[in-house]
Amino acid sequence: MTSAGRFAPSPSGELHVGNLRTAILAWLFARSTGRKFLMRVEDLDRARAGAEAEQLRDLAAIGITWDGGIVRQTDRGPLYAEAIAGLTAAGLTYECFCTRREIQEAPSAPHAPQGAYPGTCRNLSEAERAVKRAVRPAAVRLRSAVTAATVQDVLHGSYTGVVDDFVLRRNDGVTAYNLAVVVDDAAQGIDQVVRGDDLLPSTPRQAYLASLLNIPVPEYAHVPLVVNADGARLAKRDGAVTLADLAAAGIPVGQVRDTLLASVGLPAGPVEQALAVFEPAALPREPWIWPGMAGPDA
Ligand code: GLU
Repeated sequence: MTSAGRFAPSPSGELHVGNLRTAILAWLFARSTGRKFLMRVEDLDRARAGAEAEQLRDLAAIGITWDGGIVRQTDRGPLYAEAIAGLTAAGLTYECFCTRREIQEAPSAPHAPQGAYPGTCRNLSEAERAVKRAVRPAAVRLRSAVTAATVQDVLHGSYTGVVDDFVLRRNDGVTAYNLAVVVDDAAQGIDQVVRGDDLLPSTPRQAYLASLLNIPVPEYAHVPLVVNADGARLAKRDGAVTLADLAAAGIPVGQVRDTLLASVGLPAGPVEQALAVFEPAALPREPWIWPGMAGPDA
């Protein structure tokens, strides 16, 4: 299988300039290393009708090209089920009946890192499970043998983070993001994962899961986010932050693209032109404050 990078948006709404900047970087990382670039729609959760088409239109408008068709996670249930079944057969999963509230209120296990699942359901007997099953459906958790793992990241270097008994399938039957992303990246031949650095804390879990599934761990590059003037992650309420809003304010897509390229030290113009001078080591490591863009009448 040829190597590939990817962009994997969740179709929960329109992409904002922060998402578009990450997409440009993912594209540059992949294309500058001769990789394919794949587009995967992560629609297992929070999908809004129409959002996928808007997102793909905006990605194309800033010059992102991708190979092959769109892969949608909702079409891939059997692949996820197979991975979970394999882990279960190896004794690496267990059923969990905890509500979110029960998890919050449970005393944390000794030495357990902050935010880790406290292990309430890890050692239930079959009889205890049968009683709980009658009350509510089970989620499936990984029976992790470690509490932390270290990954290598192009921008962050060596990064160590928590690995707990994280959820693989939610109790409503929906496959959890951490499982789906690992299975999909492997099945699609993706060996380079470029995404926002808000996902860096999930990465040790994903790398550990990959090792259990005998899947090679991809190269990771977690890129800094775009933030508003208060330092908070950019959101719709921060004004004109989508291509549609910006176009309505009189700002053409090319100008938005050039502003995003400038924010990572790259020349204005079509993204292909940036390929020749793209240098991952030169990328900024700090969040970029969205300066806002004024239209011609402002
Ligand atoms: N679907 C995730 C998001 O939009 C990205 C997941 C990933 O790149 O691994 O935040």
